[in-house]
Amino acid sequence: IDFNRARFTLSAPDIRKCPPETGAEVAFAGRSNAGKSSAINALTNNTKLARTSKTPGRTQLLNFFALSDTQRLVDLPGYGYAKVPLAMKRRWEQDLSEYLQQRKCLRGLVLVMDIRRPLQAFDTTMINWAVAGEMPVHILLTKADKLKRGPAANTLQAVRRHLQEARVDDLVSVQTFSALKKTGIDTLKQTLTNWLRH
Ligand code: GDP
Repeated sequence: IDFNRARFTLSAPDIRKCPPETGAEVAFAGRSNAGKSSAINALTNNTKLARTSKTPGRTQLLNFFALSDTQRLVDLPGYGYAKVPLAMKRRWEQDLSEYLQQRKCLRGLVLVMDIRRPLQAFDTTMINWAVAGEMPVHILLTKADKLKRGPAANTLQAVRRHLQEARVDDLVSVQTFSALKKTGIDTLKQTLTNWLRH
């Protein structure tokens, strides 16, 4: 798969307006400001594909990027932004859970977390929803450049241990990543290529 060929195709205001369920897609989710847009841009080698923003809560849409006629990346709304009204937050959570559990062409979920604050409450909820539907999850511990090698490796190990203890390590994998230093891109590409195959 040539990830550099990713092109924006459409924004859907909610899951009922998603494109038809043909082919295969992989979704990216994460707390607002975790580094999701930067990760998508690093993956696709396109600084403008997903908008990086200091205004969390703006991305209230599902954004679809085509990799080929039958393969897509989906940028899901960021979650966990404190200033969003509670009713809107509930709506998003409902939509996210519906999308994860009902979207038949969805092959896997990339969950982006700031390596300095992994596995926050709603991250765990997302993992649980995905696992309940037997949907594979790949965790990106991004902004790894913010930590020294030792602490970064320790966090990776701690997250792995958590997944083993929760008995979800057969469906959930994890890696470190840095959009800034462009590290971890090949590992991410391997996972996505596996998911999007056939
Ligand atoms: P999103 O809300 O999850 O899409 O997060 P963004 O991609 O917009 O990133 C949020 C902030 O973190 C921005 O200021 C980015 O420049 C910064 N950021 C994202 N990825 C990295 C990274 O790998 N390393 C560092 N040092 N900063 C990053």
